[in-house]
Amino acid sequence: MTRHKDTRAPFRQLANLDPYSLFAPIKTPSFVLDEAGLIDDGEILKKVQEDTGCRILLAQKAFSNFNLYPLLERYVAGTEASGLYEARLGKEEMPGKEVHVFCGAYREEEFPEILEYADHIVFNSVHQLRKYGPFAKAKGKSVGLRINPECSTQVGHDIYNPCAPGSRLGVTLSNFEKEMDAETLSLLDGIHFHTLCQQNSPDLVTTWNAVERKFGKYLPGLKWINFGGGHHITRDDYDIPLLEQCIRHVMETYHVMVYLEPGEAVVLNAGYLVTKVLDTFDNGPYHIAILDTSAACHMPDVIEMPYLPPLYDTDLEGYNYHIRLGSQTCLSGDVIGDYRFAGPLKENDLLIFGDMALYTTCKTNTFNGMPLPDILLLHQDRSIEKLASFGYEDFKYRLGRTKR
Ligand SMILES: *Cc1c(COP(=O)(O)O)cnc(C)c1O
Repeated sequence: MTRHKDTRAPFRQLANLDPYSLFAPIKTPSFVLDEAGLIDDGEILKKVQEDTGCRILLAQKAFSNFNLYPLLERYVAGTEASGLYEARLGKEEMPGKEVHVFCGAYREEEFPEILEYADHIVFNSVHQLRKYGPFAKAKGKSVGLRINPECSTQVGHDIYNPCAPGSRLGVTLSNFEKEMDAETLSLLDGIHFHTLCQQNSPDLVTTWNAVERKFGKYLPGLKWINFGGGHHITRDDYDIPLLEQCIRHVMETYHVMVYLEPGEAVVLNAGYLVTKVLDTFDNGPYHIAILDTSAACHMPDVIEMPYLPPLYDTDLEGYNYHIRLGSQTCLSGDVIGDYRFAGPLKENDLLIFGDMALYTTCKTNTFNGMPLPDILLLHQDRSIEKLASFGYEDFKYRLGRTKR
C-alpha cells in the first residue's frame, strides 16, 4: 500500500482519493478519462484565447473520444483533422464549430466530401494547392499552405521532427520560390506551420523568428496564421505569458487571426490506464510482472516514441524494489518499463498508469488478439460511466466481414 502520497501532475486529480478503491470495481484493462482533468486543461486554453483573441483547436489525432466533445467545445474553437474521417468526426460531433484539415496529400475521390466538412483546408505542396485550391475557394473555403521553416528546435526523436532533413511535411522556402506563381499565391488565405512536439514557448518564438525571416515577404495580406500543435500549454512549467506575447505580436503585426491546434495540451494528464497484474516471477536478478495490458497494443507510443509512462505509487523517494512490467503478448519487446516500487507485486494487484488520454484510445490495436481496453469516464463527482466496451467481434471484423 501507498507509503508516500503520489503528488505528481499525472495523478493530481486523484490527490484526495484512494484510487485503488475507486478503480477496484472496473474491468481491466480500462482507459479512464478524467473529466476534472479535461476541465482544468480547458480552462487554461480558454484563458489564452480570451487574453489574446487567438483561436485554439483540438488536434483530433491525439484525442478523438467524441463523447467528450460536448465538454471540450466549451474550451476550443473547433477541431483539426488529418484527413477525411477526422474531418467528418469533427463536423458531426462538434457541430457549429470550425473544422480545419491538413493532409500530406489529398485524394481526388475524397476531396469533394472533405470540403463538405472543412472550413479551412491546408495543403502540403504548391502542386496540391494549385490543383485543388481553386475548387476549395469556389466552395467558399479558407485555403492555406503548410510551410517548413527548416528550423529544428527538438533534439532526440526525429520521428516527431517535421524540420528534419528530407522531411515530407511542409513546403521549404526553396520549393516555395521555385514552384509558386502569382495566380496560385493569390489563392492563399493563410499559412500553417507545425514543427513542435511537447515544447515550451521559447521554442515557438525561435520557430516564429525563422518563419518570419524566411517567409516574411509573403505574410502581409494573409487572413490567418496557424501555429500548428506541439505546444505543451497545460504543463506546469509552460511559459504562457511568452506564448501570449508571441500570439499578440503576430496578430498585431500582420493583422491576422492566429490559430493553435494542440492535441496533447488539450487532454494532458486527464486519463489513466488501469491494469491488473496477472503473474510475477524472477529471471536472475530481475523481478518481472506480467500485466493484462500491452505497450504495443494499448500505448504504442511507449515503444514508438519511446517513453516511460508515469505509474501511480512508483519511483517515489525510498522506493527501491525494481520491477520490470511487461505484457501478456508474445512480442519480446512488449515491455512498458522498469519501475521502482515500495515492495513486491502480487497477482491481481491494480496498477494505474497516468497521462493516458493522449495518443492512446485513438491508437490501440488488437495485435496478438489482445482485447481492446474499455473506455470509461470518471466524472467530476467521481462516479464512473462506461463510454465503450469491446469484445471478440472488434478483433475479428477488422480482419474480414464475409462468411466463407
Ligand atoms: C500532430 C499534429 C498536431 C497536434 O500535435 P500535439 O503534439 O499533439 O500537440 C497539430 N497539428 C498537426 C498538423 C499535427 O500533425
